[in-house]
Amino acid sequence: MKNKLTCPLNPMPPIPIGTYHPGAFGVNRHLHVHTGVDLYAPYGCPVMAMEDGVVIRVAWFTGLVIGMPWWNDTRAVYVQGASGVFCYGEVQESPVIKEGVRVKQGDVIGHVLSVLRKYKGRPMSMLHLEQYSPGHTDEWDEWKIGEPKPVHLYDPTPFLLTIEGVKTIDYDPYIDSVLAYTQYAPKEVAEALLRYVKVHDKRNQV
Ligand SMILES: [Zn+2]
Repeated sequence: MKNKLTCPLNPMPPIPIGTYHPGAFGVNRHLHVHTGVDLYAPYGCPVMAMEDGVVIRVAWFTGLVIGMPWWNDTRAVYVQGASGVFCYGEVQESPVIKEGVRVKQGDVIGHVLSVLRKYKGRPMSMLHLEQYSPGHTDEWDEWKIGEPKPVHLYDPTPFLLTIEGVKTIDYDPYIDSVLAYTQYAPKEVAEALLRYVKVHDKRNQV
């Protein structure tokens, strides 16, 4: 199939899903709903175009410069291709990436920056990936809590799952607190807890 997507990162991290994982599409944040998926990756990790397309926008995405001083300054690259518009956010674009530039699938369009200023128990650098219908590059904070999903915003999760080998990761506050405790528990207790988790953790069975 011509329009087959490839991974934007290598190695490709699992895609957060579910109602609790803070990086999943559609989870409630403080003031808005999360409009993309957070693909955790080390600072500096190259970001590659998932399909052929044209850069239709390059802009500031987070940080002081656009009135969000609680985050570091990061940028976003919007590439329009056969699947619509992919927004590669929380990155620094490559020097050649400008509006109107054509990119080929696999081209390095930027690299991952560190968006979080403080450690909050999750990785601080990531590719925030959004998807829109053709011609749209709406701002990320348009989706307010309790409101329906903006019509031009897509959930990129099913598109990413068409790529062979891509996995998902869910978050269960209870199971994850049990797992965290196994690190400190005496050996026999930890083993018993891990047996419990094995039976009761129903995630990642997509
Ligand atoms: Zn995000």
